Amino acid sequence: MSSVLKVSGLSRTFGRGDYQVNALMDINFSINRGEFVLIVGSSGSGKSTLLNQMGLLDRPTTGTIHIDGVNTTNMNEGRTSSFRNRKLGFIFQFSNLLTDLTVLENVMLPMQISGRRGAREYAIELLGAVGLRDYLHKRTDRISGGQAQRVAVARGLANKPSVVLADEPTGNLDSANSADVVQLMKSMSKQLNQTFVVVTHDTEDFGDVDRIIRLKDGRILSEMAPEVVS
Ligand code: ADP
Ligand code: MG
Repeated sequence: MSSVLKVSGLSRTFGRGDYQVNALMDINFSINRGEFVLIVGSSGSGKSTLLNQMGLLDRPTTGTIHIDGVNTTNMNEGRTSSFRNRKLGFIFQFSNLLTDLTVLENVMLPMQISGRRGAREYAIELLGAVGLRDYLHKRTDRISGGQAQRVAVARGLANKPSVVLADEPTGNLDSANSADVVQLMKSMSKQLNQTFVVVTHDTEDFGDVDRIIRLKDGRILSEMAPEVVS
């Protein structure tokens, strides 16, 4: 199996002196193509910091991150942002859609930025797959929270990224919509052999996943298949 994401010797320290916070310490793991991985841990355990490192939104204090075999650690700003756009998809707690664009335009946008052909056709296909074929031309401030998060899932998949990173993607949804978005991510992962790394503090909705990485106080507490975790 090929590793799409490899985190080696990663640490991230914020501040200095008395104000120093070791948000992540000695983090090592590797994720294979198509895996559906959860990152769990209590508030403040370092989940978002870790996701931001994998998303190349923040730089490690020590260590490296390889994505598709490429060492991302010393890339300059320009290269990092184009690499991020092509190789990574993001789903946040609040869907972060552009409200003056339509549903379709929001999903097309990452593909237009990367200059991909067939953006419109693929966006329509993805929006069909997430059940929003009838909402293509709606403005995103005219749809429900659950629908907005479905659009965010489609947008996250748009560039056929190496990894989709999601930070508490259901944190702002009621339980029915939450279960719905979880099932959607899992089925898209299967259908497209798409790697997902999802931060959540609610593992129940997810049922069987390939792996759960547990963080505590900035360290990996355990990394195992869910059936082993009681
Ligand atoms: P989680 O997402 O698991 O709730 P975070 O990754 O947001 O945790 O935070 C981990 C630790 O790092 C916390 O102690 C938090 O206060 C600290 N932290 C996160 N971001 C910053 C920052 N930009 N500056 C200072 N401390 C930070
Ligand atoms: Mg967080």
